Amino acid sequence: MNDEKNSHKKLQRIKCPRCREWTTWQENPHRPFCSAKCRQVDLGKWAQEEYAIPGEYVPRPEEEE
Ligand SMILES: [Zn+2]
Repeated sequence: MNDEKNSHKKLQRIKCPRCREWTTWQENPHRPFCSAKCRQVDLGKWAQEEYAIPGEYVPRPEEEE
């Protein structure tokens, strides 16, 4: 018997780089952060420390155990 698993869409989970909380990549308007709060805090920190990283920040996806 062959089970097609396409019907079950698994969400990719990532860790918020700010508070280390688990969140989902899909359906997350604040990614890679868990919330707008973490996003704002992190952006402010980066601006203060004058980081200059070209391109877009890409978090490392982590597999769910
Ligand atoms: Zn967070």
